[in-house]
Amino acid sequence: MASVAFVGLGNMGGPMACNLINAGHAVTVFDLSEAAMAEVVASGAQASSSAIDAARSADVVITMLPAGKHVAQVYLGDDGLLAHMAKGALALDASTIDSETAQQVGAAAADAGIAFMDTPVSGGVAAAAAGSLAFMCGGSAEAFERARRILEGMGNAEKIFHAGPAGAGQVAKAVNNMLLAVHMIGSCEALAMGAAKGLDPAVLSDIMKASSGNNWSLQVYNPWPDVMPNVPASNDYKPGFMVDLMVKDLGLASEVAGSAGVENRLGQLALELYKAHQSEGNGSRDFSSIVEKIRVS
Ligand code: NAD
Repeated sequence: MASVAFVGLGNMGGPMACNLINAGHAVTVFDLSEAAMAEVVASGAQASSSAIDAARSADVVITMLPAGKHVAQVYLGDDGLLAHMAKGALALDASTIDSETAQQVGAAAADAGIAFMDTPVSGGVAAAAAGSLAFMCGGSAEAFERARRILEGMGNAEKIFHAGPAGAGQVAKAVNNMLLAVHMIGSCEALAMGAAKGLDPAVLSDIMKASSGNNWSLQVYNPWPDVMPNVPASNDYKPGFMVDLMVKDLGLASEVAGSAGVENRLGQLALELYKAHQSEGNGSRDFSSIVEKIRVS
């Protein structure tokens, strides 16, 4: 079992750190929020007074932070983790960020003799709590083999993928979430049209799930209220996965498309629609609430 430093104990990082404790690792934690730290400490983690103190003697450092600027700030420079971690240690950044920052941190880590992987996740808060996250990893094959043993404590072993070199995990995450936004919006449009023509959304959902329109949004995350239990749509669109985060991820996908020279019209339309929904006061609601915008427009 490894000594693990976990930095960033929010909605995702908190339950992920708890699962590492349950898997038998010695976990030291740091977050700017004392309340976030207290919950994980109550589950058996050791509290630290700074990220550097947590990481200094750890075999593995895991970060789960809001965005690229936080990741760069935590890892880089004289006050960054890479300057203070043990040589030969492994750093895993599970945040969803731009692939350029992931590559920049990966290169600085290599210079410091530290193995780094971008390891963003899919599955959301429920999968973080259940220990069934999917991980998409960017970095060397050697680092991936080391990372896999740790990631299995927080995820589904069959859903831990080596996407490619540094930054590839973030590219995979961005394009996946663009596709998620597109099939969520498409599912909302289909349900809104059927309902307006008098069909029962639950019956229509069953028809599409058994037909060629089947997709993840219909299977496990139906956006129409009260069609499916235990989803945000049946709980006043409490997240779940916030509209703010979807806007962030669609922005990252737009950057990927731009740097790749690929025209992603549906991704751009999804970004526009989600930005408009966000600006109407829905940023903290679940992303499936986009159905309301489609129903009223
Ligand atoms: P969150 O805002 O709940 O948590 C982020 C945590 O990082 C906070 O507790 C904050 O205090 C802490 N933090 C920020 N800067 C810090 C610093 N310098 N040092 C220490 N702690 C610091 O966010 P979240 O929902 O846990 O998401 C984290 C990441 O996971 C994001 O990149 C998000 O896009 C991604 N993600 C989220 C979900 C989801 O459903 N919430 C799903 C997949 C991926």
